[in-house]
Amino acid sequence: MPKLSMSEIAALGASIVLALLVGPALGLTPWLLLAIALAWIAYQSEQHRRFARWARHPLRRARGLAPNWAETAGSVHRSVHTARGRTRNILRRMAELQIVTEALPDAAVVIDSRGLITRYNPAAGRLLRLNGKDVGRDLLMLVRDPQLARLLDGGIDDHVLEIMSPFDAGVRLEVRVIDVSTRTRLVLVRDVSQLYRLLTMRQDFIANVSHELRTPLTVVAGYLETMTDEDVSDIDVQLLASKLVSPVHRMEALVGDLLLLTRLEASSPPSDSELEAIDVASLAQAVVREAEGLSDGRHEFRLELHSDVRIRGVSKELHSALMNLVSNAVRYSPKGGVITVSFEQSESGAHLAVSDDGMGIAPEHISRLTERFYRVDLAAARVRGGTGLGLAIVKHVLKRHHSTLSIQSELGQGSRFCCDFPSTQTLPANDVSLLEASPEIDGY
Ligand code: ADP
Repeated sequence: MPKLSMSEIAALGASIVLALLVGPALGLTPWLLLAIALAWIAYQSEQHRRFARWARHPLRRARGLAPNWAETAGSVHRSVHTARGRTRNILRRMAELQIVTEALPDAAVVIDSRGLITRYNPAAGRLLRLNGKDVGRDLLMLVRDPQLARLLDGGIDDHVLEIMSPFDAGVRLEVRVIDVSTRTRLVLVRDVSQLYRLLTMRQDFIANVSHELRTPLTVVAGYLETMTDEDVSDIDVQLLASKLVSPVHRMEALVGDLLLLTRLEASSPPSDSELEAIDVASLAQAVVREAEGLSDGRHEFRLELHSDVRIRGVSKELHSALMNLVSNAVRYSPKGGVITVSFEQSESGAHLAVSDDGMGIAPEHISRLTERFYRVDLAAARVRGGTGLGLAIVKHVLKRHHSTLSIQSELGQGSRFCCDFPSTQTLPANDVSLLEASPEIDGY
């Protein structure tokens, strides 16, 4: 009950004084006092009733209340208003948090101190096959893995481990447990298969590069050791020195190809200002001239150019790609082989192909040929002097030109490596919007 206001006290006091002054003369003092008391009770009841009615909806403004009641109502109104603001804030944050956890690609499962699931996000449904019925169940009964049991028991340092998914073969999961409170724990599960594959690829790549470099290095070291021998004559030293040229060139080629591949992979696709309108006929002629030097008269070269459409591209890169394909044809075709460079147009775009009638490739190898260091026959490839990166370079150059490499081959019959450029990468022969590229480029 609010305190009486000064005006109420004054009114009540004045009424009582008046009753005491006038009452004796009229002989009605008790009745007047009784009437004042009744009026006071009625007034206070009415204020109380109005206050109670307002209190049912304390967010509305209080009306018709005496100042003291209105003041009380005002402070209640302010507290309720502030509390409502805070609740709204909390609810909004909770909703945001829920949206975030639902959008997370990682599974998040909340468990209680007994390991029973209390809630989970949609990613947990996908990664751990949880559904609504699993709330209240033991996580370990649903994801049966002894390592996970150890993790939840606190038996694993760092509170993180990797397990193979019990649901999807080949999927590797990283599981992390976070103690949120004494009664609540958060289990986060992430699909790390892709990351693991990349790491393995990187390790394989480093192992391959080391191996590729070690072979010529061992040869160089062997010759150098022999050359420093006191008994070796000057003529022998010269002979040994000449033998160093080939392994050193091999290392040089390998490092060159590695740098080129890294550059191609790391840089973004060529910008419009880097693109040229490449005249494929000139490019093919320049590459064939270089390849004739490599072949040293052992092969016959043919050019079949059925289109004069131009390719929008980086000439150095396309030169390097075509050179790799033609030099492969030279290296993997026997003496007397015919190597054809052809260019034609179709509805889907333009096609620049290198065909040979050489050794060919068995079908099971074809899909892997553009992997770095993949060779059909490692020993034979080494003898023929490749770096194992040629087709990986071709694939990356084409990818940067929104184009693809298609390979057809038959063992013992020959192969056809075709660069397929979409129409968006071609320009009519008379288009002068891009400057014409010079095909006379040294290897990229
Ligand atoms: P390399 O430097 O070993 O030639 P590439 O990436 O250029 O590396 O080629 C990968 C493998 O593809 C080669 O080792 C070879 O086995 C096979 N290959 C490439 N081109 C041809 C071809 N024209 N004929 C037969 N096999 C080929």
